Amino acid sequence: MRNKFTVIAALLLLGAIGAAGAKDAACDGKDYTLRFAYTDPAVPGDPVFVRMTLTGTGGLGNQKAGDTTARLVFTENNAADFYPVPALPSQDGGPARSANTAEFLAAIPLSTWQKTGNFSLAIQYAPFGSGDMQFTLPLTVEAKEFDSETLKMGESNTAIMHDESPERKAQSDKLNKIVLTWNKAGVYQQTPFGKPVASARMTSLFGDRRVYVYTNGKSSASEHYGNDFGVPTGTRVGACADGKVVLAELRVLTGWSVIIEHLPGLYSLYYHMDSITVKEGGRVKQGDKIGASGSTGFATGPHLHWEMRLNAVAVNPDFFTKDFAFCGNP
Ligand SMILES: [Zn+2]
Repeated sequence: MRNKFTVIAALLLLGAIGAAGAKDAACDGKDYTLRFAYTDPAVPGDPVFVRMTLTGTGGLGNQKAGDTTARLVFTENNAADFYPVPALPSQDGGPARSANTAEFLAAIPLSTWQKTGNFSLAIQYAPFGSGDMQFTLPLTVEAKEFDSETLKMGESNTAIMHDESPERKAQSDKLNKIVLTWNKAGVYQQTPFGKPVASARMTSLFGDRRVYVYTNGKSSASEHYGNDFGVPTGTRVGACADGKVVLAELRVLTGWSVIIEHLPGLYSLYYHMDSITVKEGGRVKQGDKIGASGSTGFATGPHLHWEMRLNAVAVNPDFFTKDFAFCGNP
């Protein structure tokens, strides 16, 4: 497999840029230049985004930058295609991108169990639709500690967790199918996201290792997939970014729930709401009201559970409000 690709050795690492945890890299092909901005270093639970800008330098005839295909490979089972994204306005108000420039984004998730150390990201690409090329970007994964918590569940939560109804099974299948969907055309926002509620009171964090103790004395281990905001029932919940509503319904486990698609394979999820005000198929802008918080479904009190899934894997929501800026700042 590896032999199939021509490896470009002249990768130039340009060092840190913009937001924390972002690096810049560049390399020159015969008839084009490539520039990259990507997540590095990362920690377990982070998504790794790579933004690629390809510019033709002549000699390519009628071949277009937009005809380029590319794939980001972390491991055999954790890889994703690049998708074209619209050029963002340049920060200094400079000229718009020319026709022989195209921009692409790709992302893979690191699970919260990802080992630390030095790794590489392979970029496999066919520039201007021809030739198979490959080179690698270095990626450092640094350590991150996750908290542990034990939660005692009352009668109703114990019943929900042991619900084996066809209804719950069907809801679970539907959600899994949605978060596994990778829609190339689903590009709605590539600039930093906002928080869904205007509160800094966090009652549980992404990646917390959890033990649920039930009324029958049994327990189960779990991992918290999102961030919980401890806000009173009725608190306004807004979309964290532009997108398309792909789920809006009452679920056994998560109560009134909304899922929004933001980028190919990237979804935000909002659980346990008291009410929702959007419908499946609708479009939302960042900050638009999607519902009001509550404690429906498997919840121990009023809060908003906000989760982000990338290629079906839960990733740290804070990344999108803090470290996503470099993707929108080429
Ligand atoms: Zn939660």
